[in-house]
Amino acid sequence: MTPEAQQDTSTPGAELRYALRALTDRLGHPLSDADLDRVFAGKPGTYEVTDAVAALEHAGFVADYGKLALGKLDPALLPMLVFDKAGAPLLILAREDAGRFSVLDPETNAPRVMTLQDLKPRRIRYGLRVRPGLARTGGDTDEAKGGHWFWSSFRNLKGIYLQVILAAAIANVLGLTTSIFTMVVYDRILPNEAIDSLFALVAGVGIALGFDFLVKSLRSAFIDSAGRRADQRMAEKLFQHVLSMKMAARNKSVGHMTSVMKDFEVVREFFTSASMVALVDLPFVALFILVIWMIGGPLYLIPAIAVPVVLAIALIAQPLMRRHMLNSSHDGQSKQGVLVETLTGMDTLKSVGAESLVRSRWNAAVKTQADNAGKGRRVAQSTINLTTFIQQACQVLIVFYGVFLVSAGQVSMGALIACVILTGKTLAPLAQVSSVMTRATQAIIAYRQINEVMETRTEREVGKRYLPLAKLSGKIELEDASFAYSDEIGDVLSDLSIAIQPGERVAIMGPVGSGKSTVARMLLGLAEPTGGRVLLDGLDARAIDPADRIRNIGAVLQEPWLFSGTVRENIVAGRYGVADTEVLEKAQLACVDEIVARHPHGYDLTLREGGQGISGGQRQCISLARALIGDPNVLVLDEPTAAMDVRTEARVISNLDTYLGADDARTLVLVTHRTSLLKLVDRVIILERGRVAYDGPKEQMLKRPSKPRSASVA
Ligand code: ADP
Ligand code: MG
Repeated sequence: MTPEAQQDTSTPGAELRYALRALTDRLGHPLSDADLDRVFAGKPGTYEVTDAVAALEHAGFVADYGKLALGKLDPALLPMLVFDKAGAPLLILAREDAGRFSVLDPETNAPRVMTLQDLKPRRIRYGLRVRPGLARTGGDTDEAKGGHWFWSSFRNLKGIYLQVILAAAIANVLGLTTSIFTMVVYDRILPNEAIDSLFALVAGVGIALGFDFLVKSLRSAFIDSAGRRADQRMAEKLFQHVLSMKMAARNKSVGHMTSVMKDFEVVREFFTSASMVALVDLPFVALFILVIWMIGGPLYLIPAIAVPVVLAIALIAQPLMRRHMLNSSHDGQSKQGVLVETLTGMDTLKSVGAESLVRSRWNAAVKTQADNAGKGRRVAQSTINLTTFIQQACQVLIVFYGVFLVSAGQVSMGALIACVILTGKTLAPLAQVSSVMTRATQAIIAYRQINEVMETRTEREVGKRYLPLAKLSGKIELEDASFAYSDEIGDVLSDLSIAIQPGERVAIMGPVGSGKSTVARMLLGLAEPTGGRVLLDGLDARAIDPADRIRNIGAVLQEPWLFSGTVRENIVAGRYGVADTEVLEKAQLACVDEIVARHPHGYDLTLREGGQGISGGQRQCISLARALIGDPNVLVLDEPTAAMDVRTEARVISNLDTYLGADDARTLVLVTHRTSLLKLVDRVIILERGRVAYDGPKEQMLKRPSKPRSASVA
């Protein structure tokens, strides 16, 4: 039994986690707590099958969840997790013979034989099949990531698209009936006044039209369902990627990112909507021309010339359109950028009276965008007008040419009318082609932009084997660590070497801009050293599973960010299995209890995005409580009390002092300006311009004759 497997199975979902571990252990790569928590999506106490599937896929397994019949279970699929009526998991290890299975007994962690009869009362209906995936064999390829974000989303949908094409073929053939009907009526029924035959014909055509209607409805339904599935997969992958992007890749503005994400709509709309249908109809244009040739002889020449002309026009217009659209998509970004920046900084903007600044930026962005979009629209409109003109000219030409053929006796009157109708049908999809092409161009531009984002590096490299680190002892070392935000600015931290032992309490001080927050961010993995290394427990931090690192280091950033949601949700922050008592305890430690006590909604007090709705000091209290959840062995706090009043700060300091004193193993790294916080530490490191200016005991620092500027700030 792996040590992780020994856990209590009383909370809902814990059984599932246990079974997942046992299963993956047998597949040669047991999931760690980090693996299981990383994609946990549900409520704090529960762990569900969807979480399990996501966790498995993340860890590089291939997982399918679906219905199954136990009696017909293929032994090749074992070991496999199955679920009974109540949703409780059961791990089936092997099939002994036709009616007997070897099942894992969670009590003893040993196999036990159960017959189909034993299993029957549990009414097993669903199963979770897990196989080692490609990612397990390594490599940061698309394949390893579970496929390219875009193309793989259409995987398994081939069947649906084949059905769409088949439906299109049937609909197009049925579309011929009305013209043939008209021809027969003019040539056979009218001259003979054969009313009986007319009834029969109408009935026949009626059935054909009804069938046509049915096929077309089915076709839209197929496209819709395929589209929805692809859409969901793509959106999920995209968001997952955004979440796991490295800081260096995130450097682009929020406005740019929002506009890229908005572009996703264009791509999705194009590839998953009915606009594709027009393209499916295109090959059938040849069929119509063939029929025109069969019944109208040389009349086929007119559509046969018009079709390539219309296609050529649509193609020629594309490069022109693309140019304008590229322009407008860049400007669209800045428009989006201005909007996002304005909304985030609204209060500051108003208080300093900078409305005119953003207003003029906004107006400029709107104007260039409108200009470009206008040019693009004019090109698009011209092609559509030209296509319509050709379409109408064709109808007139067919009639014109037809009159000569009819009087020469080469073509019947009915055939001429049928040809007019057929020509209309031939050119109809072409009219759509130019607008579909325009949208295709847009979609391709958008696709490229999203693809650029999707190709950036992520924090967690797929296929890379991370070291699971269930509990960090708290030894932190920086070895010649340097960091630069960008090449132009140069190193913000240069060759820092700091060693912090487990249980040590250290303050990092120094003037503004000396790199204190950057050190904190480096310890948290938000900034990766550009030179040197960060070691946690003697291991290179880059090798440690990011999820484990996060679980083991409680952090308060200099500008804490709260999510929209309740205070409770903010404290728990999506972690698995956090008990209410712990939330209360940590809230008390961080003085959150005072905030909620004064509010009628208590812990259900709802905050808006970014923590609006409460004061800055209160925000710090909540983020401190959040950092303490799970009792991490290491705390990295960046000016955690900067916005608190003296009384609250004093209470927080004394609470933290007691908390840290209760367990000698807890390491504290505290970035601060305030001497009041020095009560919590024994050792002080002073940074100056990214270098260590002092590193030693607190008392000695306070006695230093020439105090550094930073210490006199507070
Ligand atoms: P402090 O000691 O005040 O916490 P920081 O570590 O936040 O200082 O910043 C150190 C230096 O890094 C500053 O000079 C600042 O100009 C630069 N810096 C901080 N954040 C960024 C960023 N996101 N992009 C570029 N430069 C940054
Ligand atoms: Mg700072």
